[in-house]
Amino acid sequence: MASLSKQLHFLLIPLMSQSHIIPLTDFAKLLALHGVTVSIITTPLNAQRYKSIVTHAIKSNLKIQLIPLHFPNQEVGLPQECENLDTLSSLELLKEFLLASEMMQEPLEKLIHDLEPKPSCIISTSPLIWTQQVANKFKIPRYVFQTVSCFTLFCSHIINQEKIQETLVLDSDSFLIPNVPHKIEFTKGQILLNGTSTNKSQDMKSIIDKIKQSQDLARGTLINTFEELEPWYIDEYKKIMNKVFCIGPVSLGNNEMDEMVDRGNKTSIDEHNCLSWLDSMKPKSVIYACFGSLCQISFLQMKEIGLGLESSNVPFIWIIRKVNLTSQVEKWLRDENFEKRVKGRGMIIRGWAPQVLILSHSSIGGFLTHCGWNSTLEGTSCGVPMITFPMFAEQFYNEKFIVNVLKIGVRVGVEVSINSWNEEKNGVLVNKDQVKEAIDQLMDKGLESEERRKRAKELAHMSKKAIKEEGSSFLNTKLLIEDVMQLLKNKEEEANNVDRTM
Ligand code: UDP
Repeated sequence: MASLSKQLHFLLIPLMSQSHIIPLTDFAKLLALHGVTVSIITTPLNAQRYKSIVTHAIKSNLKIQLIPLHFPNQEVGLPQECENLDTLSSLELLKEFLLASEMMQEPLEKLIHDLEPKPSCIISTSPLIWTQQVANKFKIPRYVFQTVSCFTLFCSHIINQEKIQETLVLDSDSFLIPNVPHKIEFTKGQILLNGTSTNKSQDMKSIIDKIKQSQDLARGTLINTFEELEPWYIDEYKKIMNKVFCIGPVSLGNNEMDEMVDRGNKTSIDEHNCLSWLDSMKPKSVIYACFGSLCQISFLQMKEIGLGLESSNVPFIWIIRKVNLTSQVEKWLRDENFEKRVKGRGMIIRGWAPQVLILSHSSIGGFLTHCGWNSTLEGTSCGVPMITFPMFAEQFYNEKFIVNVLKIGVRVGVEVSINSWNEEKNGVLVNKDQVKEAIDQLMDKGLESEERRKRAKELAHMSKKAIKEEGSSFLNTKLLIEDVMQLLKNKEEEANNVDRTM
């Protein structure tokens, strides 16, 4: 097995977005540890951003390479520097972005034609439906890499199957997900595609429908989760989907400090300064507030978050993405003395933070998160209870999962999903008092809070076990490799039989 696996070559193709490239490059390392060769296909600017993974790979004798392919952004009217969703000015341009990625099909086919060793399979994230045609053309299997939980996949399957959306009128109309073991209540305003009336949301619906169809054609599905985290939902999902491999949490494959630092972007803070600041804080006392790589937040909302953090009186690290750091925000932080008032107990990182490194520190006591799936899983695997602040996409599903299923979080109180990334349109979702109350609730020393913390610790322990040798995710990765190997053997045997009959 070990020697056979050395002949395998996995092509990993993520959608160009932090929440796709980061977990796929993490998974590349976990795969390569089994002796296989891994090539990650991405665009030139993303290859530049992620090149540190190759440095780590060389250091650890892992066979991983990044292969850049031209991204035809200008051909579809996108700016030249736009090669990643985090540089897309508006969600409305997603269609053009996906179109440009589709145009990479032909160059990819040319590349595969000349690539040595010949690829044994393609693993691509779900929006890249055209990669199925590439796999078909080269007669290799494609596996879909899901960047959401089984809980989300299964609940949205039920919502579609039962046509629940058709029964809802107002954004505030609520419903319970039928036949699941937890009480999961959504409002119309919180589920994906809540406004299907506009042309843009119809476009979005048609994209999602195509993604689902293409998924049925794939050989299997990889999910960045682990068997012990959501056993009921995984079992049910396996009943409706062929060959499901739970292989996460992939972020736990980063053990060295430099691996945790160079994840996704160059960090905007010196990691040693960050760690010594954390070292100076009491255990489990600090709130880490970060809203992922895509959310655009209005000035008024930023202010409410800041004032909530200030009035909570707890130490905090607050990450403000460059796009949210408008001159108005900067003026408020500096000239209106916010930074001065919280000096010593509040650290603001302007740009990109070494999230996994920070979450792994013993001083972190809570994570104020937008509930992206990667962040949710990273918080869970570090044993950090969460304050949930979802904004769009499947983030409300992750909120329900954190609060109602895992019971390791409290809601800040966002009721309706935003329909745009444009900060002006998004206004204020929650006020400073709601932010403060959620922090108070999460950080108090009462029984409920202690139980939440205890559950979070147990989940962290389980997640580490899953990824270690002989853990469930390690074994599932092995099963995936065996599946690819078996298909290759079958192909070889077929070819030999044809030769003999000639
Ligand atoms: N991330 C990070 N530093 C930051 C912001 C985000 O390392 O300052 C990483 C985070 O660890 C996660 C990813 O970016 O792996 C964000 O993915 P997620 O699914 O949570 O949210 P999205 O960015 O898609 O909204």
